[in-house]
Amino acid sequence: MQDTRFHEFLHRQIPVLVALSLVPGLAYIFLGWLHAVFMPAVAWYLIMLVTAAWGIRLYRSFDAATMSETRREQWYAQCVRLVYAFFVLWALIFLIYVRLDAYKLHYIAIFTEIGASVVASSLLASDKRLFRPTILVLMIPLIVYFMLVGEWYAYVLALFSTILTWVLLYAAQSTNNLLTQTRHQATHDALSGLFNRQYFIEHLQRRMNSLNESGEHGYLLLIDLDHFKTVNDTLGHDVGDRLLQGVVERLLDNLADHCVVARLGGDEFIVTGGSFSERDACEAEALETARQLLVALKTPYVVGAHQLHISASIGVSLLGPGDSNANRFIKEADIAMYEVKARGRDGVFVFDEAIARRVEGDLEIERLLPFALSRGEITLHYQPQVDRAGRIIGAEALVRWTSPTLGVVPPDRFVPIAEQTGLIIELGRHILETAFRTLDDWHGAGITLQQFSVNISMRQFTHPGFAAQVEELLRRHLDPALIQTLMFEITETVVTEDIDGVIQTMLELKALGIRFSMDDFGTGYSSLSHLNRLPLDELKVDRAFVLALGDDESDRALVGTILNMASLLGLNTVAEGVETAAQYAFLMHHGCGMFQGYFHSKPLAKEAFELFIQDHATARDAI
Ligand code: C2E
Ligand code: MG
Ligand code: MG
Repeated sequence: MQDTRFHEFLHRQIPVLVALSLVPGLAYIFLGWLHAVFMPAVAWYLIMLVTAAWGIRLYRSFDAATMSETRREQWYAQCVRLVYAFFVLWALIFLIYVRLDAYKLHYIAIFTEIGASVVASSLLASDKRLFRPTILVLMIPLIVYFMLVGEWYAYVLALFSTILTWVLLYAAQSTNNLLTQTRHQATHDALSGLFNRQYFIEHLQRRMNSLNESGEHGYLLLIDLDHFKTVNDTLGHDVGDRLLQGVVERLLDNLADHCVVARLGGDEFIVTGGSFSERDACEAEALETARQLLVALKTPYVVGAHQLHISASIGVSLLGPGDSNANRFIKEADIAMYEVKARGRDGVFVFDEAIARRVEGDLEIERLLPFALSRGEITLHYQPQVDRAGRIIGAEALVRWTSPTLGVVPPDRFVPIAEQTGLIIELGRHILETAFRTLDDWHGAGITLQQFSVNISMRQFTHPGFAAQVEELLRRHLDPALIQTLMFEITETVVTEDIDGVIQTMLELKALGIRFSMDDFGTGYSSLSHLNRLPLDELKVDRAFVLALGDDESDRALVGTILNMASLLGLNTVAEGVETAAQYAFLMHHGCGMFQGYFHSKPLAKEAFELFIQDHATARDAI
């Protein structure tokens, strides 16, 4: 396959060739008129004009962005013929003029021939198929002409012409080598020897044009190594580089010849292949290839004294006719790859409409969320927490977003997006301020709670200045007595953070009177040793465990153990998501301290919570 850059290069030479043929060609008509070969010169020029018109047509039919691979190859083949035609015509005019008696004309013809050869060696150096035949077609008649003169000086000139031919061929070949080398460097990645990102995107664009033309399907595999950074960080970049080379070997060994593979950067590789008339067959082949690669990549690597193991996450996107945006498909494969990462890595996932919709939804949320705050669409609901005696002694503040465009967006959906975009800092501040105001209002209205829980995102918690921000808000909104009721809920993701820094912030806030609860306990990665180091006051048994209570003996044993362990560590316990009397009874029996769930109440708007607590008090008084 000829490189497209060379196609573009030749494309730019066409007008030069046309101009170089038509303008000096006119001089030959004039000479022909002077020396009674007017008609042959005109005939020759007419053929040159037709060739030039063909050249202009070829020039105009070239469009790098939309041409398919096959059409481009056909175009190039025609260009090669065009070039031959031009130079054969120059050789022809030489043969016509050199046969005439006028000696001056001979000089002109000879110089034209040499000039044309020099032009061919410089303009056509990009391709051996172009410069070699043309230089030979021009120079061999010249050498033969000198030989036929039969004088000693002409033999010398024949020798010089032979040397010149060799020099021109050599010069063109050197330029050609340099061009090929530069092009190789510009299109390949130095470490892996694979194509680089830029080349791959160009290639993919051409593939998509071809698929569009043939109505076929192809695939794209985006391969990202799992935890490659750890290898680099712990064993050094040398080992990392050699591991990457090992990975490349496996990729090349396991991919079909028609596949094109490139390194996108770092530990990311991309493959395109397949031409299927059926989309399903294409998907099956893509999955099969991806699975084979996963197995091949997982076999241990020996790098120096180390035996290394690495797995990969592969995102697949299917290329089909009808869409020709290469970057879009790479993005889809990227999204599918991230889906594999989110599902625990070491796997493959095909981009589909469901993730497309989710990603679109996420983008919409990302776009609208900043306005939600300023337009007052973000509110808080409060879910009652009940003690063992059935009294409402606490509440958890839960954020709500009602968007005029999107409707009610659950916090599970928009909080993670706010964390990614950094908006959580502003959102978190708004939540804290609203919660503190509510607590203060309720205090004013005679509603006293023993604890008031607010969820704190880790991104917000670890943000520099969080403790100072809380302190400032407390000073503005709450009496010291009320601060003692505050409980900040954090999640087990703390263990993935700088744990000493987290403990430091927790201690600063505890000094103000705030207590801490470990939310969703049992779903994350925290070990008991971490749990013991954190200055916690409360542990919330995750809803998933409570939900499973009915089914399984081992789940019941697990919840019992969590509650026991919490009491040994001196932590209060709250069970989340208590929905049924049976769950409630079980948790009561095993010593759970507090209960939160639909069994008692769903999260309520502020006023509804106030009414609920009044009704509850009235009901209790009546007993
Ligand atoms: P979480 O902190 O574990 O909150 C408990 C979730 O369980 C709430 O969902 C609550 O409505 C739901 N729930 C309570 N009882 C029951 C029950 O009996 N059955 C069922 N099926 N669900 C019950 P919600 O409000 O959708 O919140 C989901 C998660 O979003 C929260 O989990 C928390 O991680 C996050 N979140 C909510 N509000 C905030 C907030 O203000 N800040 C931050 N950073 N995160 C928040
Ligand atoms: Mg919570
Ligand atoms: Mg929870």
